[in-house]
Amino acid sequence: MTGKVRIRGFDFHCHVDLHSDPVALIKRCEKDCITVLAVTTTPKAYAQNQVWTKDSNYVHTAVGLHPELVGDRYSEIDLLEEQIRDCAFVGEVGLDGSPQYRSNYEKQKEVFTRTLEVSQKYGGRIMSIHSRGAAKDVISLIEKCVDTENVKTILHWFSGSHEDTRRAIDIGCYFSVNSVMLKTENGRRLLRIIPRERLLTETDSPFVKLQGSISGPQEVVHTMVGLADLYGESINVLKDQITKNAHGIFMCAGIEIY
Ligand code: MN
Repeated sequence: MTGKVRIRGFDFHCHVDLHSDPVALIKRCEKDCITVLAVTTTPKAYAQNQVWTKDSNYVHTAVGLHPELVGDRYSEIDLLEEQIRDCAFVGEVGLDGSPQYRSNYEKQKEVFTRTLEVSQKYGGRIMSIHSRGAAKDVISLIEKCVDTENVKTILHWFSGSHEDTRRAIDIGCYFSVNSVMLKTENGRRLLRIIPRERLLTETDSPFVKLQGSISGPQEVVHTMVGLADLYGESINVLKDQITKNAHGIFMCAGIEIY
């Protein structure tokens, strides 16, 4: 008898709509029991993503405005605020301090601050946050604008300093980890200080390429194996911990996951 192959995993940061076949990807996540936070990069992308995921028990669409796009899409901030009223998931949002986005940095800060404030106002929100080259400001704004019991803040692909990581842990942030972080020295150093109960997995697919091919949500299984190896734990212990963390996060939004 051939039954359902139940992989079970969590991808807290996946660009489902930037994959070549989003519908097929969602079906595969259903089959493999992989819960996905489908981040979006502009408020206008939300409607189509909702059409694809509204009947899915595993793939959840988030509303977002990527910091790299704030320069061009700043005018969509009002739409984003409206959408946060109706959607528990917010991402991709945050700040990018790289030289090419520096000229928009003040606008990015305004958009991110408003996003945090609106999330705090409605409560029970789950955010996937970008912080490249801007870890200190991201952490300061989270601390200033939200109560992390009320709004679950997940730092995606975090690459701040040891001190930044400590501060983020102190204020209640979670960290979603991908396979690339496990391969870099800085990534592994940070992973050693992140408490297990704040740990989540992600892929940032399709932006991450593994051995030449584009990764998808199933890649979280390899990341869990890598994390178990780093911590010297069994894969089942690690998987149970991530599952427990994920349930806690979804419960904040009043959502029971499978
Ligand atoms: Mn991303």
